[in-house]
Amino acid sequence: MSLMRTHTCGALGPQAIGQKVKLCGWVHRRRDHGGLTFIDLRDRFGLTQVVFNPAKGAGLHSQAKELRPEFCLRVEGEVSKRPPGTENPKLATGRVEVVATSLEILNPSATPPFEIAEDSEISEELRYTHRYLDLRRESSRAILFMRHKVLQVIRRVLDAEGFIEVETPVLTKSTPEGARDYLVPARLNPGKFYALPQSPQLFKQLLMVAGFDRYYQIAKCFRDEDLRSERQPEFTQLDLEMSFIDEEEIYALTERVFAAVWKEVLGETLAAPFSRLTYAESMRRFGTDKPDLRFGMELADLTPAFGETSFEQFRKVMESGGAVKGFVATGGAVLSGKALDALTDCAKQAGAKGLVTVRVGKGELICPMIKHLGEPALQEAVSLTQAKPGDLLLLVAGDEELAGSVLGALRAHLGEQLHLIPETGFSFAWITDFPLFRFNPELKRWDSEHHPFTAPHPEDLSILEKDPGKVRSRSYDLVVNGVELGSGSIRIHRREVQESVFRVLGLPAKEVEGRFGFLLNAFRYGAPPHGGIAPGIDRLVALMARASSIREVIAFPKTQRAVDLMTDAPSEVTEEQLKEAGISIRRR
Ligand code: ASP
Repeated sequence: MSLMRTHTCGALGPQAIGQKVKLCGWVHRRRDHGGLTFIDLRDRFGLTQVVFNPAKGAGLHSQAKELRPEFCLRVEGEVSKRPPGTENPKLATGRVEVVATSLEILNPSATPPFEIAEDSEISEELRYTHRYLDLRRESSRAILFMRHKVLQVIRRVLDAEGFIEVETPVLTKSTPEGARDYLVPARLNPGKFYALPQSPQLFKQLLMVAGFDRYYQIAKCFRDEDLRSERQPEFTQLDLEMSFIDEEEIYALTERVFAAVWKEVLGETLAAPFSRLTYAESMRRFGTDKPDLRFGMELADLTPAFGETSFEQFRKVMESGGAVKGFVATGGAVLSGKALDALTDCAKQAGAKGLVTVRVGKGELICPMIKHLGEPALQEAVSLTQAKPGDLLLLVAGDEELAGSVLGALRAHLGEQLHLIPETGFSFAWITDFPLFRFNPELKRWDSEHHPFTAPHPEDLSILEKDPGKVRSRSYDLVVNGVELGSGSIRIHRREVQESVFRVLGLPAKEVEGRFGFLLNAFRYGAPPHGGIAPGIDRLVALMARASSIREVIAFPKTQRAVDLMTDAPSEVTEEQLKEAGISIRRR
């Protein structure tokens, strides 16, 4: 311990009674009671009660009466047993108090804009504008401590597994992951720009070419996207890569890392190996590639029940190769008519023409469309899905993928609304066999489903350029409780395959050379087979801490509009800076 303090504010117990101690911390609360003044002194370790007794010095006591919340103090005194009846069993230090003999105000504090307390309702805006005060609150601080612990465990496990941590550049070239780049003007090379990495993807592959064999990095990634609630313009990944491995080794390693993190941070045993679903199966059963497996309510193909229907909308869909899909919301018959209307609106917003809801009663079905669809067909749908009295059956007709995705979204929504999702527990799954490409109808071109460096399934190499839509990839996603935690793949390590993928993506040879020439060149020098994964650290910690938002697990987060409320970044720069960077601003 330094000379300034002998103990932290969380350390003193009965064994210290009679000792002279020095503590530093912040005034959490001050109470004046029975002629005495009490201060709860707080630091990140805890709270200690300090008593100022006029009998120990009238000057000292009157100085203490001036103390306000968040003053930063140094106190000297003697540890004493609290009088019987005044102990606080909830506090680790609750059986003792420090009777002050001297007080030094290290720094007074302005009145904070909110009380540093767990129970005060504070707007996010206020908290993030004064994040340094928000982080004095126990719950905010605890999350960052959890994050620290998670990173420690990851580093320790990967070190023991023979990985080496390598830092890759932040000022670099575009690394495509499907978002816009953040650009940085290169003053020394006028007219040129660096891009901040969307991920260290290409560097980690080059480290494999360099023979590093097992690499990891707790990597900052930057993606300029339209922000949805769970995105941040900069975020952290556990980026890793291995050589001479296949998918199975990556799954097993990832499961070992996560099992260790769960055990050491949460004290829980994680069920491994994780479940596995192919992309096609996940889409068919859950209507999404991020299924929440904590509850059932799987989608079913109910087309056979409506084979004879004269209801025109359904018939048209089936004639054009579509399907009628549905699922049963357990106990959903209790939902009000208004709630069902809201579900229909959701379905329409998601692209469905409509939503059919069937309340299953004892021996009766309540459905506004019963006349059109016919009771026998609905009864058959009920029996195919094994819906019980009290349940709600939801039906959507349409193109298979669309009907699935609409119902998938309703399933997730109703799971929550009907409280069907267990509040504890984590359900991990690997989603495999993604397609390599996805057709972009707006731009009339093929895009990579993950990124362009993902290896195609070896059996599909012959159709790579002939029939891109049919090519399966060697990529996998890790999904937990309906959240995509990360994705990865076995990579292309052969130049000609990589060139072929770029051709499918419609990239002209010249552009390929300019953007990825260094990678293709590296592949000429005996690049080993390799693959990896990159789970998101922010999402991981948010899940573990059951945080209400990803912002809670980031020390200094940005808002949904990508603004840092505390520093007010982004902000304007001086004319001089713009001139140096060779930039003139075009006003929109
Ligand atoms: N680079 C990928 C990403 O950022 C992860 C990976 O393929 O390893 O999502």
